Amino acid sequence: MNVILLGPPGAGKGTQAKRLEEVNGLKQLSTGDMLRSAVASGSELGLKAKEIMDAGQLMPDALMIDMISDRIDEDDCKNGFILDGFPRTVPQAEALDELLAGKGLPLKAVIEIKVDDAELVNRINSRIEESSEARSDDNVETLKKRLEVYHAQTAPILPYYGDRGVLMTIDGMSSIDTVAEQIQSILRS
Ligand code: AMP
Repeated sequence: MNVILLGPPGAGKGTQAKRLEEVNGLKQLSTGDMLRSAVASGSELGLKAKEIMDAGQLMPDALMIDMISDRIDEDDCKNGFILDGFPRTVPQAEALDELLAGKGLPLKAVIEIKVDDAELVNRINSRIEESSEARSDDNVETLKKRLEVYHAQTAPILPYYGDRGVLMTIDGMSSIDTVAEQIQSILRS
């Protein structure tokens, strides 16, 4: 079973993807984590990624599409995967449709975790205070840019999937357990 989790930065996609790994045995594919590994390795890709991530901007579509296409082919994705942070633009969504069709992989659901901007700012502020979890792009200025980019470039994916009848929206303002339960009920249907 293959699933896409959509939602703004701080909506809880990563937390819910980890639950789905534990409960459903699906593999979390976080493009943000892949980029952070590249940054940590000090590779050329990492240097470029750090600059873009710290500015709250998006990496080029072609690069991200190749990255996810290669990753899906790996053995640990055989039982299904959760896309967390991809697609982030309409061209990425279109390329994903094409590459999944080419690989013969169906999509079970596209789930939007909906959270107000004000709540996202509160959550990122707590993540900064609990410093062990803070990331270099966790600051209020970068968050504002990331939210702007989300509304301008990522939110148009919602009608893209809505028009195809595969979009399910859940209330991400609820507790982690409640959100997890809503996701499980979508996956059972
Ligand atoms: P995330 O951990 O998903 O919040 O991603 C952190 C940062 O990585 C984003 O703000 C972008 O700069 C970059 N990034 C992650 N996924 C993508 C993607 N699919 N397309 C472009 N940039 C991405």
